Amino acid sequence: MSEQIEKVKCLIIGSGPAGYTAAIYAARANMNPVLYQGMQPGGQLTTTNEVENFPGYPDGVSGPEMMIQLENQAKRFNTDVRNGWVTKVDFSGSVHKVWIEDKKEIHADTVIISTGATAKYLNLPSEQHYLKAGGGVSACAVCDGFFYRNQETVIVGAGDSACEEAHYLSNICKKVTMLVRKDDFRASKIMKERVKNTPNIEILFNTETEEVLGENDLVTGVRVKNNQTGEIKTISCTGFFVAIGHQPNTEIFKPYLELDEVGYIKNIPGTSKTNVAGVFVSGDAADKNYRQAITAAGTGCMAALDAERYLAAKGH
Ligand code: NDP
Repeated sequence: MSEQIEKVKCLIIGSGPAGYTAAIYAARANMNPVLYQGMQPGGQLTTTNEVENFPGYPDGVSGPEMMIQLENQAKRFNTDVRNGWVTKVDFSGSVHKVWIEDKKEIHADTVIISTGATAKYLNLPSEQHYLKAGGGVSACAVCDGFFYRNQETVIVGAGDSACEEAHYLSNICKKVTMLVRKDDFRASKIMKERVKNTPNIEILFNTETEEVLGENDLVTGVRVKNNQTGEIKTISCTGFFVAIGHQPNTEIFKPYLELDEVGYIKNIPGTSKTNVAGVFVSGDAADKNYRQAITAAGTGCMAALDAERYLAAKGH
């Protein structure tokens, strides 16, 4: 090994609202946190334009700007914020071993996992183009639906999330068109019935997206194809929402932590504790239901407090 092992009291993995909030609390409790930002510094919010639902920002704030402010707040209390990502962990002993980019080894008394989740996209070039341009593609109706009030939107997906988000959009938008690739929903009966009974939601079964259309980097419609009849048509819309699931970023923890069937880390209900003492989880890595910046921040706070109490109980 080329580098010396570093000993750390509190290691935070991830730099979304959960990670930075954990850092603010841990730093103010003199836990000298070290935070690794991961592959996407700032997390999912850096791909959001305007955040209007985080309390304390009456005029809204851009996602990237909010993340810079959170980072600065964490640094103000001397959080050691570092570039880099964790490639391996060993949680089998009382000291938690973590490797940064397969090179640097850290031994941490406590670890707070805030690695988040990644929204799945269709990965069509046109979808990615308008997503990057901030021109009308989103994977979060609760975050971005408001920007399409009284407008027409399209949402892809057939699970509980898609139904919930379509219903959310139907209260804001003039019309919502749901694109379901099979001839039925995957969602629970109650969610399915709710969208079916909402007058301004139109459901197109057996329908797949061919291309997101637009002008001047703004979405104007979607070209879709019926995979049974081959019929192609264009639906006009200003917002294109993708709700086809999320992938929690938890793969490296699998050998040690209890995950649910899709990979979310299981926490002891009402706490941030995992099945390994001294390892805590916050944010979307453990949350498939709420997935909001404010809930992630709340659980980040919980994780730092749980970590502090764990250390206190061990006499640190
Ligand atoms: P799911 O994995 O349950 O559903 C994903 C949906 O996206 C499926 O219907 C799937 O279609 C569709 N899909 C996947 N890839 C594509 C594609 N390339 N093109 C078109 N459609 C595609 O994800 P969710 O996020 O909906 O839910 C995740 C979990 O969270 C579930 O367990 C769900 O029950 C839960 N949840 C519960 C809620 C609640 O109870 N209030 C709210 C939200 C989520 P297909 O069916 O054809 O495979």
